[in-house]
Amino acid sequence: MTTCRGIVWNMGDEIEEEDIVNYGIGIRGNQQLKVLNARRIYKRIYTGGYASKVKTNGFVITFKGNAIPLEFALYNTINNVSPYKNPVILCKNCYRFGHCANQCRSSSRCQACGETHNEGTQCNKEGEILCINCKGKHAPTSPLCEEFSRQKNINEAMAKHNISFYEANKLFPRQLDKSNLNSQHFPALDTSTPRYIKKHEYISTTKKSRSHSPPISKNKL
Ligand SMILES: [Zn+2]
Ligand SMILES: [Zn+2]
Ligand SMILES: [Zn+2]
Repeated sequence: MTTCRGIVWNMGDEIEEEDIVNYGIGIRGNQQLKVLNARRIYKRIYTGGYASKVKTNGFVITFKGNAIPLEFALYNTINNVSPYKNPVILCKNCYRFGHCANQCRSSSRCQACGETHNEGTQCNKEGEILCINCKGKHAPTSPLCEEFSRQKNINEAMAKHNISFYEANKLFPRQLDKSNLNSQHFPALDTSTPRYIKKHEYISTTKKSRSHSPPISKNKL
């Protein structure tokens, strides 16, 4: 079944998730879209060093169909619907994107060097920080990470065009394969011309696509 997710705000504290599923309806032109699931959005606030979850008046709503409704109607009130964008998740165990540490099936990795030396063991590569995701000279948690921006673009495209991770991933090819050299150590070059190509080499325009394993669709219910 094709589904899509949107965010609706201004819903009030007393509204329950079941109310939205049972009585809410998505409106797109003269089309009515059924609600399949609803989840209230909570925000984390910190007071005196303690974190607590606080209700917001927003809900993430899953609708039937491949395009989100423009409006959402519940009990004679109508609110706008905006596309829901998945946050970028970085695993704090293996430092790969797309899952959290409690779902991680990889062995624990060192944040500094990216290797799997035992926790508690002194990292002997300190000072030579290397991001395992983009091979840049920063920690994988750094906001400067190219792969972090790529993951953000993927999530935005998925929300905007309601496409799968697999499709969105193809829209933003990884920069890693272009060169093993770290571009941060070189002055910016004209990126429109291919670099590091020897004169006698032909530039192949049809790059062989790698085999990807199909991603698990989160939309399947
Ligand atoms: Zn992991
Ligand atoms: Zn290390
Ligand atoms: Zn990086």
